[in-house]
Amino acid sequence: CGIVGYIGRQDCKEILLRGLEKLEYRGYDSAGIATINENGVQVFKEKGRIATLREVVDTSVQAQAGIGHTRWATHGVPSRTNAHPHQSNSGRFTLVHNGVIENYSILQREHLENVNLKSDTDTEIIVQLVEKSVSEGLEVEEAFRKTLLQLKGSYAIALLDKENPDVIYVAKNKSPLLVGLGKDGFNVIASDAMAMLQVTDQYVEIMDKEIVILKAESIAIKDLQGNSVERAPYTAELDV
Ligand code: GLU
Repeated sequence: CGIVGYIGRQDCKEILLRGLEKLEYRGYDSAGIATINENGVQVFKEKGRIATLREVVDTSVQAQAGIGHTRWATHGVPSRTNAHPHQSNSGRFTLVHNGVIENYSILQREHLENVNLKSDTDTEIIVQLVEKSVSEGLEVEEAFRKTLLQLKGSYAIALLDKENPDVIYVAKNKSPLLVGLGKDGFNVIASDAMAMLQVTDQYVEIMDKEIVILKAESIAIKDLQGNSVERAPYTAELDV
C-alpha cells in the first residue's frame, strides 16, 4: 500500500499513475486517484490492478494537483466502494489514507452519529470529521489538525479541499511519508522516494504527528498544535 501526490503546473494524472506503479511492490488490492482543478474534483478508483485503474481515468480533463492511493484493506473488504479516495458527504473534501485508525468506531459513535457513511473503512471517518469541524466554523487547516489529534493509530494522509485547489494537506504518524521538492514550481509526496524519483531527487523527511501544507511553490511543515517546523532536504541516491 502507498500514497502519492502532486501539485504544480503539469497535468498530474500520469505522474500519479506512474508513482502508484512504482509502489506496486508494497502490495495492494485496489487503487485510486483524485484530481483537482478550478472546476472541481474528479475521483477514479477500482478494485484490482493499476492497469485497471488506468482504463477508467478520464484523460480529457487537465488537473494541476492530485492524490493517489494503493489500498491494502484492513477494515472493509476490497471493493470499489471501499477503495480510496474517500469523500465527505458534501463532496468538498477528498482523502487518501494508509494505516489503521484504531478508535474509528468510538469516533463515529461520539461525533458522527448523524452522518451517513458510504464505506466500511476506518478511513472514511477522517474525512467526515474534517467536514464536520469545518461546518462548525473552523478553518480547514485547524479542522485537519483537530481531527488528527482525535485519531489513535497510524496514518499517512493526503487531503484535497474543493474550495482551494492550490493546496494539498498532508499528515503522518507511524506510516511512511516523504515530501519531494520540485525544481520548477511543483512539489510531491510519496510513501517511498522511489515513487517520485522520476520527477525529483530532493526529499524532506516528515516526522510523526506533523502536517504539511503542500503548495506548488512552497511547503510548510507544522506540528499538530500549528507551530512551524524547519527541516532541510536531502538528496535521494537510489537506482531507478
Ligand atoms: N485502513 C485503511 C483501509 O482499510 C487503509 C489501508 C491501507 O493502508 O491501504 O481502507
